[in-house]
Amino acid sequence: MRILIVEDEPGISNFLKQGLEEEAFAVDVADNGKEGLELALSGNYDLLLLDWMLPGMSGIELTRLFRREFPNTPIIFLTAKDTVDETVFGLQTGANDYIKKPFHFEELLVRIRVQLRGKQGLEEKLSLGPISIFPDRHLVQKGDEEIQLTQKEFALLEYLVRNKNKVCRRTRIIESVWDIHFEYNTGVIDVFINSLRKKLNLQKDEDYIQTIRGVGYMAKEL
Ligand code: CA
Repeated sequence: MRILIVEDEPGISNFLKQGLEEEAFAVDVADNGKEGLELALSGNYDLLLLDWMLPGMSGIELTRLFRREFPNTPIIFLTAKDTVDETVFGLQTGANDYIKKPFHFEELLVRIRVQLRGKQGLEEKLSLGPISIFPDRHLVQKGDEEIQLTQKEFALLEYLVRNKNKVCRRTRIIESVWDIHFEYNTGVIDVFINSLRKKLNLQKDEDYIQTIRGVGYMAKEL
């Protein structure tokens, strides 16, 4: 498990690096936002620990840019900011958790392990009605039956189910499932959705993937 720390206070980053290495994590450190983003986009990390206020680029901005390419990598903010609005903003921006400075290392460690739990030991399972998704094995089942999906179909289904019961806009789907350089023709989503519905053999009373006219799609627990 490799962790990236982006923090401009050497006292804190050294303390964290040492502590995490003692816990058998591989740890890299950047001391400014731009370098942090560059390292993060290499895709080599299982989790990011980000300071909020950074030279070059804020942790928020870094998160926003990183999330376009890596929707699922856990991000924990280290922040001295603790008003409700700012915390909500941090989480809405795509962070998974935050911890207020000053903090106890043990508490941070627990939060890191919670975020990584899906990767260590316990396999992650997502569900939507009778449909089960096991991201680690790229396996989809409806009931006991295994469903064969292409990479893109799988990614699309996983994205919708991770955002279950929320409307997913077409542009967000494209950014998350295809990539930011994809030539925008959101019609491609409809083709993949139709194919998903067919492969999942969704009957009339199994409207688990709903069309939100003019907006996008929603995975809905019925
Ligand atoms: Ca700082």
